[in-house]
Amino acid sequence: MAANKKKPVEKWEPGTECIAKYEFQGTTLDDLPFKKGELIVIVQASKDPNWYSARNEAGETGMIPVNYVHKREGVKLQTMPWFHGKITRDEAEELLIPRTDGLFLVRESTNFPGDYTLCVVFQDKVEHYRVIYKDNKLTIDEEVYFENLTKLVEHYETDADGLCSRLVQPLPKKGTLNFSVDSDSFVKSGWAINRKDFTVGALIGRGNFGDVLEGTYMGRKVAIKQLKDNEKAAQMFLAEASVMTTLRHPNLVSLLGVALGNPLYILLEYMSKGNLVDYLRSRGRNVITKKHLLNFACDIASAMAYLEEKSLVHRDLAARNILISEDDVAKVSDFGLSREASLNQEGGKFPIKWTSPEALRKAQFSNKSDVWSFGILLWELYSYGRVPYPRVPLADVVQHVEKGYRMERPESCPEYVYNIMKQSWSADPVERPTFKTICKQLDSCKGSL
Ligand code: ADP
Repeated sequence: MAANKKKPVEKWEPGTECIAKYEFQGTTLDDLPFKKGELIVIVQASKDPNWYSARNEAGETGMIPVNYVHKREGVKLQTMPWFHGKITRDEAEELLIPRTDGLFLVRESTNFPGDYTLCVVFQDKVEHYRVIYKDNKLTIDEEVYFENLTKLVEHYETDADGLCSRLVQPLPKKGTLNFSVDSDSFVKSGWAINRKDFTVGALIGRGNFGDVLEGTYMGRKVAIKQLKDNEKAAQMFLAEASVMTTLRHPNLVSLLGVALGNPLYILLEYMSKGNLVDYLRSRGRNVITKKHLLNFACDIASAMAYLEEKSLVHRDLAARNILISEDDVAKVSDFGLSREASLNQEGGKFPIKWTSPEALRKAQFSNKSDVWSFGILLWELYSYGRVPYPRVPLADVVQHVEKGYRMERPESCPEYVYNIMKQSWSADPVERPTFKTICKQLDSCKGSL
């Protein structure tokens, strides 16, 4: 181990994740060699502040020089309180009262789909500026270009730069919060991956934002989400990735990094057996044992208990969003809609058969609405991938459920699992169990198999 002069700025706790900035070959047997880009987890500090004992992904441990790596941190989302979505010109003018100079909002353009409109009050009138989406960037004057709306707003908050007024005061939208994310923050926090460092292979799925492909990164197989060319989707896509940067659990599909540029790529841990619905349908009762089913249920409940502990709500828990690894571990994926529990979002498309009555009616999403969805997921699991409420037309589901109708126990479902389903479907969210309790209940069932 060679001496190293540079002093670290802060002391890193055990479990801190780092990414290698350079290759390190090591000089003694005590050292842990690594390649550029490798993920290293701190095990503990040593007497020398420049060296830590650490572990690589293969589980090997050794000493690492601190200035060869940088700490990987969570990427923060920025809120866009001034973003009002699809409202008309007239609605914007009505909202912008009193007409204080510099009061502003941003809406989606009605005349030019895909573009936005910045509405600013000046001398008792509202000016509407078209924000053009061009070459993956946003601009008003075709001179200054911005990566996202937040950056555009920040620019005109400091300087009118040709507008009638500087942006002084945002008019916040009630009830909803929209987010933007700054792609630079992926670079700063150690999550950016170079496009030349991974290869892209065959198509394995199609998602909301674009195709999912298989690929290779640092010698291992990975799943790659590739984004269509669309600024709004890019923001949602990065928002999804940024939520993932703050989470780590053995039953959550883990994010490996993001390759910025056009197209945008998100690299994920590869789940070779695909999504749970396809898995259940293609293998069926003869291959999938009761033990498999209970293990899947425990895996999912354990990831959900972790999200619950962090007050994060998934909002779209369903078997189609569970992925299965080579060694049959179930992991929750698709954090696209997950948000802090306190931040409610209206107006989305809800997967009706999976969404709790209060979430459907009043957009009240909570960990308890996730518990409802988990009950539906358990039903899917024990019916080997059937679509919930098989004989009820989609249009009638809500009414049926509100009148107290609940699905029957699937044929091969043990009574103790059905009890958890029924509790999860309590009309009153308060009466539903927590994921922590569900986890314990399911775990204790393992003995009875
Ligand atoms: P979206 O959330 O954008 O709708 P999904 O995450 O549901 O997209 O992905 C669509 C499909 O791609 C999944 O159903 C699954 O079959 C496949 N897929 C997604 N992520 C992975 C992964 N990490 N490993 C293997 N297959 C995946």
